[in-house]
Amino acid sequence: MSRPLLIRGARVLLPGGDIHRPPIRDVLLAGDRIAAIGGGDRPPLDVPADAEIIDGTGRLLIPGLVSAHYHSYDTLLKGRFEDMPFDVWALHSQPAYWGRRPRAELRARTLLGAMEALRNGITTIQDMNSLVPQDEETLDVILGAYAELGIRVVFSIALRDLPDLDIAPFLPAMSAEVAAIVGGKPGDAAADLAFVAAQLKRLSPLPARLHWALSPSGPQRCSTALLEGLAALSQEHALPVFTHVYETRAQLAKARRIYPGGSMIGHMAEVGLLTPRTTLAHGVYISPGEIAQVARAGAGVVHNPLANLKLKNGVAPVARFKAEGVRLALGCDNNSCSDCQNLFQAMKLMCLLAAGNDPNPAGVLAADALAAATTGGAQALGLGDEIGAIALGMKADLVLIDLDDLAWQPFASATRQLVFSETGRGVRSVIVDGRLVLRDGRLTTVDEAAFRAELAEVMQQVEQDYAQLVSRQAPAIPTLLEANRRLAATDPGLVGQLQSRGSGA
Ligand SMILES: [Zn+2]
Repeated sequence: MSRPLLIRGARVLLPGGDIHRPPIRDVLLAGDRIAAIGGGDRPPLDVPADAEIIDGTGRLLIPGLVSAHYHSYDTLLKGRFEDMPFDVWALHSQPAYWGRRPRAELRARTLLGAMEALRNGITTIQDMNSLVPQDEETLDVILGAYAELGIRVVFSIALRDLPDLDIAPFLPAMSAEVAAIVGGKPGDAAADLAFVAAQLKRLSPLPARLHWALSPSGPQRCSTALLEGLAALSQEHALPVFTHVYETRAQLAKARRIYPGGSMIGHMAEVGLLTPRTTLAHGVYISPGEIAQVARAGAGVVHNPLANLKLKNGVAPVARFKAEGVRLALGCDNNSCSDCQNLFQAMKLMCLLAAGNDPNPAGVLAADALAAATTGGAQALGLGDEIGAIALGMKADLVLIDLDDLAWQPFASATRQLVFSETGRGVRSVIVDGRLVLRDGRLTTVDEAAFRAELAEVMQQVEQDYAQLVSRQAPAIPTLLEANRRLAATDPGLVGQLQSRGSGA
């Protein structure tokens, strides 16, 4: 058992407390939990003689942030793309196009995204990962890297068995060469479900800080058999479900064409996947009626403003989510379409985008963004009783922020400056499960210089394969851009749906 840790004299953001000027407190950690909170204007704590003291003077202590939507497979593609619509980006970033990768690369890419997350105060990530190949070795390398680093991870294996691109109905006539690039092979729902069920059994319980979830990639990419199978596994094991829903206009158009009543949400309810355990990633093109249905079902949404904008998908109706009482989480999504794992950027965008088009107050406040990045994320992950708040008995997942940093000068509001001023630069120390994984700006579980050398080696192969991939996929780009133009231009019903989105029933 590690020594108790005492964080002494920090401003501590407590549930139900002053969100602007949080009180000074001492927080005692024992093992992986918060054992006592006192000091300041409260009675002093009884501190064990062997406790390690962390000076919290001039620091703000906040709950570790939760990134509820992320994929670790393309962290090495950070900084590669811009001005690309969703389908063109996917052509370069999806793991199926890359095929099997070396173990060292799997490890490096997993560590890289998670290291950046920790440095930015993210203590828990939901990694919705496509395993290529879908085998135990690939899974074990990834989970092993997470265990080594010490971040908390809710891991799901993304499944799909229908090969069509979401935008397929809008594709123009294609050459055989292009058709071979954009077409896929159908999957095997029974085999996929058996693989996931076998892993749930083999890796049970998971090591500390690792948790399971389930992920159909998107309802329209999965057969009813696959969706119902995942719903059954979720029910049997009480596991959260994360899936992409209405991320793009193509997904909206597809839903309108293939589902009774045109509703992807209705279809999810039908296959048993619209439950309090379900969280929908994106929800950019969800209708007001569907938002109300999500709220009634107790399902939630994880908002990904960085990726939504970078891939030209638009702005999710966050003010309406809030008005309808939909529980909200926040994510940073892929590193190849957000280029960072930084929830400070996501929190700020959440507030700014909700208010950007309306001269009247939108009612989406810094406190809402911070809640989405903490308690909202924790609930989405099924860990609402464990993480997301600084309270007795909760897991000790904590972040110390430097209030001497210029982002905090002068100090006016902990919550507003976290959302609007902090960039991640002020994150000094991070604790996950009671263990200091970032101490005074240094990661403790990984040698960063050695890691950079390891990464440089891995990147030699990545650079070669990337160059080949770019030239291999290039012939399909004009076809996808044409499909994108058709999608934007030729569906008046779809446009009508979009325009009525913000305006009531
Ligand atoms: Zn995603």
